[in-house]
Amino acid sequence: MRLITLFALLLSSLSASAQEPLKSELAPCGTPPGIAPVLRQYAERPQDFVAERSSDTLLVGIQVHLLAKDNGGARISPDRLLDAFCRLNSDFAAAGIRFYFKNNWNLIDSTGWYQHTTIQQGIDMMLANNVPDVLNAYFAANVANNCGYNLPYAGVAIAHGCAGPNDHTWAHEIGHALSLPHPFIGWEGKVYSMSVPTPDTLTYDYTHFHDSLETTVPAPLDTALVEYLDGSNCIIAADLICDTKPDYLSYRWDCDAQGNSLVQQKDPSGATFYSDGTLFMSYSNDVCSNRFSDEQIAIMRTTLQTEKAAWLGIGPPQGDITEMPVLLSPVGGQLSPATGTVLEWEAVPNATRYVLQVSRFTNFLVKELDVTTTGNSYTLGTLLNNINYYWRVRPFNDWYACTELSPYANFKTTIVSAVAEPDTDGWRCYPTLLAPGLPLTLETPASWLNRSGKCMVYDAAGTLVWESNLLISSTKTQLQFNETSRAPGVYRLVYMDDNHIKTQSLVIGQ
Ligand SMILES: [Zn+2]
Repeated sequence: MRLITLFALLLSSLSASAQEPLKSELAPCGTPPGIAPVLRQYAERPQDFVAERSSDTLLVGIQVHLLAKDNGGARISPDRLLDAFCRLNSDFAAAGIRFYFKNNWNLIDSTGWYQHTTIQQGIDMMLANNVPDVLNAYFAANVANNCGYNLPYAGVAIAHGCAGPNDHTWAHEIGHALSLPHPFIGWEGKVYSMSVPTPDTLTYDYTHFHDSLETTVPAPLDTALVEYLDGSNCIIAADLICDTKPDYLSYRWDCDAQGNSLVQQKDPSGATFYSDGTLFMSYSNDVCSNRFSDEQIAIMRTTLQTEKAAWLGIGPPQGDITEMPVLLSPVGGQLSPATGTVLEWEAVPNATRYVLQVSRFTNFLVKELDVTTTGNSYTLGTLLNNINYYWRVRPFNDWYACTELSPYANFKTTIVSAVAEPDTDGWRCYPTLLAPGLPLTLETPASWLNRSGKCMVYDAAGTLVWESNLLISSTKTQLQFNETSRAPGVYRLVYMDDNHIKTQSLVIGQ
């Protein structure tokens, strides 16, 4: 496994590529039908499960793995991942289950895994990269042509196209990982039809994973009883869970205003009903679903307290983040060096990390930089000269991601001098080629703060033409030397304090 310690990823172009499959092109879920061991225990004594349910919040560590192409491109944007993580925790809030990033995100560059079309490739990916004692979650452009799937022994996989801020695929797959089957278990790969008598039993194959929904049934390996509307067989039929009503719809379906299916179904006795689309574990559209049932919650919690106890972490959680970051520098179209511009923003209470985005466009559709960083400053590499750049940040921590990107600030790049880096003290002055009226910036190291100094500018004949006493109150000081237009020519700036003398040649163009 490669955990990226610097925790930065660079996307050179569009964050989402046109080749990524859209949600509408994917099967909802590739998780095979099956009855998990905890679910079997539940079916033997369901009342106990619900009665024994504890009320404390269970804290579950997640290891996120973000797939990209071999060249590191097309990974899910950190901003989108945080939206998905915020949604996941909101979907599980009523269950008293809270997820947190146990480790840094694992960045994996592999085109094959990034767009894998078979479950077998997904198995290989997970077995090669899984971290023990944590819920492993993989994000890739294509996950075996599904929105997502869960491998009971390995982890969950989510397609980029189904990881939007209002999608519930992540919650659905974790539901599987915590022992929940589909409420329509047995109907996977089959198409319900009102015109065909509904059978009492369905056979399903739970050792084989389908690449896509198929109508042909492979060699059957288990049998599910079809659930009756009156609840008479709910404890032995379908998902074995009684507070999830009958549902035979194993394709993506739409709901009415109450969350019920538009498609009517008929149980084996002939009683008609509509499926409950409010359940995350159904295949209803994402706008329909908003809950796990009480018994589903009890089963998930018991799974976490027994079979998956290794995933549980101890608190306390890091605090929520309520403040918006204030961007400090450079802002307001300020000139800044094309190489080595330092972006600075105010630290936000409870934030331990920030998403940082830099773009030439105010809509940020194309980004020069899309990274996460731990501090509240970041040194940029080389940008194009004489271009407006826009930047913004989003705070988060391992527990809380329901934050927003700040409003953007902007700066304009300029060539500093032949030597673009600050000197060994961290001192520099720019731009060295000044247009009339353009301000001059003096950059000084943080250790010089509150120091008193003096700046002088001499013309080519050695005559003092400007001077100013300075109190260094920021790492970037604007000098007013060029505010009134000066004659074109070569000048020399001298900075002086008790410990330092620095000089810089300046040219004022025509
Ligand atoms: Zn599923």
